[in-house]
Amino acid sequence: MLDTLIEALRGVLPVEWVITDPVRLRTYECDGLTYHRATPGVVVLPETAEQVARVVGLCNEFAVPFVARGSGTGLSGGALPREDGVLIVTSRMRRILEVDLPNRRAVVEPGVTNLAITEAVRDQGYYYAPDPSSQQICSIGGNVAENSGGAHCLKYGFTVNHIEACEIVTPDGDLVTLDRMDPGYDLLGAFVGSEGTLGIATKITVRLSRAPQAVTTVLAAFESIEQGGKAVSAIIGAGIVPAAIEMMDALAIEAAEAAVACAYPAGAGAVLIVELDGPAVEVERQFERLREICSDAFELRVAADPAERAAIWKGRKSAFAAVGRISPAYIVQDGVVPRTSLPRVLAEIDRLSAAYDIRVANVFHAGDGNLHPLVLFDDAEPGAGERAEAVSGAILDLCIEHGGSITGEHGVGVDKAKYMPKMFSEADLDTMQLVRCAFDPRGLSNPGKVFPTPRLCGEVPGVRKGVHPLVESGRAEQF
Ligand SMILES: Cc1cc2nc3c(=O)[nH]c(=O)nc-3n(C[C@H](O)[C@H](O)[C@H](O)COP(=O)(O)OP(=O)(O)OC[C@H]3O[C@@H](n4cnc5c(N)ncnc54)[C@H](O)[C@@H]3O)c2cc1C
Repeated sequence: MLDTLIEALRGVLPVEWVITDPVRLRTYECDGLTYHRATPGVVVLPETAEQVARVVGLCNEFAVPFVARGSGTGLSGGALPREDGVLIVTSRMRRILEVDLPNRRAVVEPGVTNLAITEAVRDQGYYYAPDPSSQQICSIGGNVAENSGGAHCLKYGFTVNHIEACEIVTPDGDLVTLDRMDPGYDLLGAFVGSEGTLGIATKITVRLSRAPQAVTTVLAAFESIEQGGKAVSAIIGAGIVPAAIEMMDALAIEAAEAAVACAYPAGAGAVLIVELDGPAVEVERQFERLREICSDAFELRVAADPAERAAIWKGRKSAFAAVGRISPAYIVQDGVVPRTSLPRVLAEIDRLSAAYDIRVANVFHAGDGNLHPLVLFDDAEPGAGERAEAVSGAILDLCIEHGGSITGEHGVGVDKAKYMPKMFSEADLDTMQLVRCAFDPRGLSNPGKVFPTPRLCGEVPGVRKGVHPLVESGRAEQF
């Protein structure tokens, strides 16, 4: 089927945009989570929404699965290709189609990078608020699919709060538009965060935000992570909602220092980066209160200008990559706990780290309880990878035990599909399949992601005995 499909693809796209050369295919075999790899059957590089629709239409005709890929920075294996399928890469779809400042909107193609949107409107005093640390390279299509977050999402909300409309190619190849203003069910809300399983976004209308009048960025250095954690709770408890509150522990600071020489205060057990923004008078008052709350900090630095602000952010923004300086291999974990559980969960992570003899560096969006433990190991050491995996999984179990979630912003992808039954009941997962089936009854759009395989359209793992109730009731088909 794939060979016949490839011939058909060459009829709808220039031949050089249909990649079958085995060496070139390897470029696309993983995303940012490199230990899940698969060589795609074929890669296509469409330039227009109509081309995406024709490619998807052909996949549907030949019953071949397809996977969308933006910049491939995902950290849950969401863009992991299929050896028997088509990888549809949006890197040629990089046009900003319209900027409408009076209505605070921009219409962009899915391959446009997150930061490019802000760069297009910054001089006019606007910006696109969600700011993943990967914003220089990740695509807005990937952001929509993952409902990505970022340091400033504490105050401004995640991607879902900044998307006004999406033109999508449905899994049967139709081009339709989902608009926030549409009456009826919030289908746009269902699409954002669906990790490429409900179709491919081909045009995205984003909300633009006004740049704040004043910004104050503070770096507070504490002797211990507990002191830093207490400060976070106290800040939120005082009714302050900073634009961002980020925390890094000593190991993460050590890595950032080795990678980008960020010159954070020496000897800190934890640093807190707090950014306040808004009307100047409000920011000034909040800063005075913040200074009182952070009285335990042994050093408090306030950025005097944009260069100093950038210097404070440099260590945090480069933290994931930085751990490569102190460890040959690492797993970037992503989980959420209620803010009040942070101290207990961090103590448990410490305990796990000692028990498994695996170092864990902690970087997190502390304001919304989103942990990013970086589980460090030496992949040359026999058994170390397995121990790191065990620690990483145990951290997710902790998040669930504390009423949190297995992902805050990196998505479920292929990596965490196995944890879904720990968070959701059979009935929950079946109900989610109804949504999936409504968009993609044949299960061709990014199959094997988010839900534990072979759970597609109502199947449960293992051999099903008898007909699934959803099939029996005529609400789903089983293939
Ligand atoms: C150093 C680093 C820092 C990061 N920091 C953050 C952070 O702070 N916050 C955060 O949330 N994430 C972060 N990430 C994760 C990642 O950058 C985001 O998930 C990002 O949104 C992925 O975008 P992408 O274009 O690379 O998507 P890809 O990795 O290419 O794809 C991700 C998912 O989106 C789907 N997809 C891609 N394009 C489309 C489309 N047009 N239509 C439908 N589905 C599509 C894919 O099928 C896949 O399931 C970080 C990653 C790295 C490497």
